Amino acid sequence: MPQRMLKFTSIDTLMPDKRDATARNEDFDEIYQGYSVDGAEEQASRCSQCGIPFCQVHCPVANNIPDWLKLTAEGRLEEAYEISAATNNLPEVCGRICPQDRLCEGNCVLEQSGHGSVTIGSVEKYITDTAWERGWVKPPTPAFELGQSVGIVGAGPAGFAAAEQLRRRGYEIHIYDRYDRAGGLMMYGIPNFKLEKDIIERRANLLTDGGITFHLNFEVGRDASFAELHRRHDAILIATGVYKDRDVQMLGSGLDGIFPAMDYLTASNRKGLGDKVPAFDDGTLDARDRDVLVIGGGDTAMDCVRTAVRQGAKSVRCVYRRDRENMPGSRREVTHAEEEGVEFVWLASPEAYLGDREVTSVRFQRIHLGVPDVTGRQTPEPIEGSSFSIDADLVIKALGFDPEDIPSMFDQPDLEVTRWGTLQVDHRNLMTSMDGVYAAGDIVRGASLVVWAIYDGRLVAEAIHHRLEAEARTEFNTAVPAE
Ligand SMILES: Cc1cc2nc3c(=O)[nH]c(=O)nc-3n(C[C@H](O)[C@H](O)[C@H](O)COP(=O)(O)OP(=O)(O)OC[C@H]3O[C@@H](n4cnc5c(N)ncnc54)[C@H](O)[C@@H]3O)c2cc1C
Ligand code: SF4
Repeated sequence: MPQRMLKFTSIDTLMPDKRDATARNEDFDEIYQGYSVDGAEEQASRCSQCGIPFCQVHCPVANNIPDWLKLTAEGRLEEAYEISAATNNLPEVCGRICPQDRLCEGNCVLEQSGHGSVTIGSVEKYITDTAWERGWVKPPTPAFELGQSVGIVGAGPAGFAAAEQLRRRGYEIHIYDRYDRAGGLMMYGIPNFKLEKDIIERRANLLTDGGITFHLNFEVGRDASFAELHRRHDAILIATGVYKDRDVQMLGSGLDGIFPAMDYLTASNRKGLGDKVPAFDDGTLDARDRDVLVIGGGDTAMDCVRTAVRQGAKSVRCVYRRDRENMPGSRREVTHAEEEGVEFVWLASPEAYLGDREVTSVRFQRIHLGVPDVTGRQTPEPIEGSSFSIDADLVIKALGFDPEDIPSMFDQPDLEVTRWGTLQVDHRNLMTSMDGVYAAGDIVRGASLVVWAIYDGRLVAEAIHHRLEAEARTEFNTAVPAE
C-alpha cells in the first residue's frame, strides 16, 4: 500500500496550471492520501505487536500505537480513535506532519528488519479524519465550572493542547494571539501542501465550541500589558514560540530580493487562505519564473524550496554549509525536494550577495568539514580560494529561529531567560521565574516540532491544574463559614 501519491518526479512536470500558490491539486499534494477502510486495516494489520513498542517509546506523546493499530486492523475505529486521542490533542496534524522517519516509524521493528515500517502517521491521520467525519470528536466541555481562569499567550499547538486539557477540567480559558488566525506556525509557517489550513480552523472552532475564548489580533505588550493579563487570570501560560530570524550580515545584505523564510512562507500561506497579499501579488514574494536560492538545510529550508517549486520557479537551489549526512532537516523531506527537481549544493557557505539594486547572484565559499566540536558535529571550515557564484533573483534565508526578547516585549525584567534567550522554567513545576506564570512549547525548548509542543502543552496544563487546585483547596479550608 503506497503511503503517499506524489506523482511528479521533476520540476518539468509541474505544469503552469499547477503553478498557482493558491491552487489545490491532488497530484500536487504532499498530504498523505486517505486510506480506504480496507487499506487502513491492511496497513494496521502489518504491525507485528512486537511486545517492545519502540514506536511508542519514540513518539513524544507516547501514543499507544500498537493498541490503536490492532483496533484499526479489527475495524474498531471508534475505539482506535479514543485511544489515539487520549494522548494527543492534534492527532490529525501529527499524522500529517510529524517527521515519522525520525520518530515512530523510524523505530518500527519492521523498518529495522528491512520490511518497511507500518505507515503509522497515515493510519493516525485516517483514524482521526474518520472520527471527524463521523462526529466522534467532541468539544472539551467540562462537567462543571471551577471558577478559576487561565490566560494563554499564543495559539500554537502548545497553547491549543494546554487550553483543551485545562478546559476539560473546568477552567475558564482565554487565548491571546497577535495573528488574525489561530494555529501559530501550523497556520502560517507550515505550507498548506503539507497541512491543510481547514484542519487547524476546525480544531480552533472545536475549542471555541467547548467554551474557550480566542482573542485574535491581540498582541500582549501592545494591546494589553502583560501585568494586566496577569491580574486578570489565576495563572498565565506563555506559549509564544520563536520568531526571530537568524541572519548573517554580509556584503550586499541590503539588496532587494532577499527575504527571511517566514516572510516568504507566510505570504504563500496567506495567499492559499484567500487573503490579499500585496507583496505576493506584485511579484515580490512570488517565485514564479524566478531563479530561487534558499540558504539553509533544515525543514524550513525544505518547505521554502518545495513551495517555490509549486509556485512555478524557473530553478530552485538549496545551499547548505554541511553535507547531506549532517543536514538538520528530515531526510524524507530532502528526498521529496530532489524528486521535485530541487538542486542541492552541499558544503558551501555564503560570502556575499551580488547585484546593483536587486540581487542577481550569491557568492559562496567551499567548505571542508573539520574536527567535531563539543556537540560532536564537524566544524565547517572555509577552503581558501574556492569561491563560486550562483545566479538567483529571489534569495530566501532559512537559517533558523531564535526567541524574541520576551522580558522586554512584556516589560517584565524579572522573567528569566536561558543563554539561548528561551524562557527559563523550573522543570519540577514548569513555572517561570514569575509566580503563577508558566511557559511551554518552542519558547522553552527552542525551535522544535508540533508534537513536542503538544507534549509540553499537556504537561504544563497538569502543572497549572495542580497549582490552582491547591489554591482553591486552601481558600476553601480557610474560608470563614457563614453564620
Ligand atoms: C516553516 C516551518 C515548518 C515547520 N514544519 C514542521 C513540520 O512539518 N512538523 C513539525 O512537527 N513541526 C514543524 N515546524 C515546527 C513547529 O511548527 C513548531 O515547533 C510549533 O508550531 C511550536 O509550537 P508553539 O505552540 O510553541 O509555538 P507557535 O506555533 O509558534 O505559536 C506561537 C503563537 O504565539 C503567538 N504570539 C507570539 N508572541 C505573541 C504576543 N506577544 N502576543 C500574542 N501572541 C503572540 C504567535 O502569533 C503564534 O501564533 C515547522 C516550523 C516552521 C517555522
Ligand atoms: S504523534 Fe507523531 S511520532 Fe507519535 S505516533 Fe503520531 S506521527 Fe508518530
